[in-house]
Amino acid sequence: MTTSPRRYHITTFGCQMNKADSERMAGILEDMGFEWSEDPNDANVILYNTCTIRDNAEHKVYSHLGRQAKRKQEQPDLTLILAGCVAQQEGEALLRRVPELDLVMGPQHANRLKDLLEQVLEGDRVVATEPVHIMEDITKPRRDSTVTAWVNVIYGCNERCTYCVVPNVRGVEQSRTPEAIRAEMAELGRQGYKEVTLLGQNIDAYGRDLPGVTPEGRHKHTLTDLLYYVSDVPGIDRIRFATSHPRYFTERLIKACAELPKVCEHFHIPFQSGDNEVLKAMGRGYTQEKYRRIIDTIRDYMPDASITADAIVGFPGETEAQFENTLKLVADIGFDQLNTAAYSPRPGTPAALWENQLSEEEKVDRLQRLNHLVGIKAAERSQRYFDRIEEVLVEDRNPKDPTQVMGRTRGNRLTFFSSDIAQLKGQLVQVKITEVRPFSLSGEIVEVRHPVTV
Ligand code: SF4
Repeated sequence: MTTSPRRYHITTFGCQMNKADSERMAGILEDMGFEWSEDPNDANVILYNTCTIRDNAEHKVYSHLGRQAKRKQEQPDLTLILAGCVAQQEGEALLRRVPELDLVMGPQHANRLKDLLEQVLEGDRVVATEPVHIMEDITKPRRDSTVTAWVNVIYGCNERCTYCVVPNVRGVEQSRTPEAIRAEMAELGRQGYKEVTLLGQNIDAYGRDLPGVTPEGRHKHTLTDLLYYVSDVPGIDRIRFATSHPRYFTERLIKACAELPKVCEHFHIPFQSGDNEVLKAMGRGYTQEKYRRIIDTIRDYMPDASITADAIVGFPGETEAQFENTLKLVADIGFDQLNTAAYSPRPGTPAALWENQLSEEEKVDRLQRLNHLVGIKAAERSQRYFDRIEEVLVEDRNPKDPTQVMGRTRGNRLTFFSSDIAQLKGQLVQVKITEVRPFSLSGEIVEVRHPVTV
């Protein structure tokens, strides 16, 4: 097989943080003169950006990698890179396990890809997993969308949730400066992007590591202050942020979201469990009562806000009654969407070593029961959109129906309607909702008539 020179392919597993890291690494490769190859078999640099949150994702990585390792035996100039959380966790051991691998690099090293790859191209096998201070603003991401973009605001996490590998693999919190974040958003605005999602593993921790205290004694730079600071970036019409932690979610932040017109009324706040004992075992640092109070406060300020979350079922020791508390929370709150997962023990985390693990059958049974309820509640929540006019930011063509375009409401509901993508991509459009489904909507474009001023 012939491969054209200097082509790369990246396969990304896992969360938005990984997707944002992949976009930055793609930008670095393009700066180095590499071109994107849709087909990995036609690329001579292959990068897997990996995730350890689920067993499934980890197994997939090894099967992809195995195929390319075989290919490398016939094509020795192929460069194989394993980045992300599996790389961080396994480190040097990976080079022994997969002798064809050239570079193993943890997520904190994403911005260093050029240096690391140059060492590889000179003939070294390289492991980069030591903690580093993340280098600021040297990368220009190659973004997958031309309408919406992610902007990292804080890397790492200082929490110690007992099920989570993130603190081990992504290191301690490192906030970017408000100036650097605003500059990146301004550049996105100039390039025609319309929506920015500010990203952090625990975004409410933003600014705690930056210097400065206010006269009232709080950190000078908080997520709330950041939202005010970036809320008027020209060209950017919508701002979102994720992922929030209930322990640090403040009324001040909620007030800012209500006040700032560009900040969307959509809150992604994982609760993980509706039972206080389980929350304690998870090391989450809040109670279900506190979580409910946060949602009540959001709804006091913004009655129509969308609420989405993450939940885990089958955590070690979770009893049927404790699981039912999660069902009760979900029934009471009525989430617009809930990402659910059965607990899976991750190496290097405290909960993985506990003896009170639940059987797979129990976990699957609970997951199914929870998902059933989530579908019912999401369908109920969708009803409120029926016959309403919603503002939709058009992102792309509907891949299943080229006569339709798709975009999202401010509440983050995926919405489809008939129109021409060439005319509407990146536009904010008023859409009358004519059909509602649990997790998406359909509608018709509304002619917007501007009021006549006399
Ligand atoms: S807050 Fe908890 S679950 Fe989230 S990344 Fe940090 S340790 Fe993991």
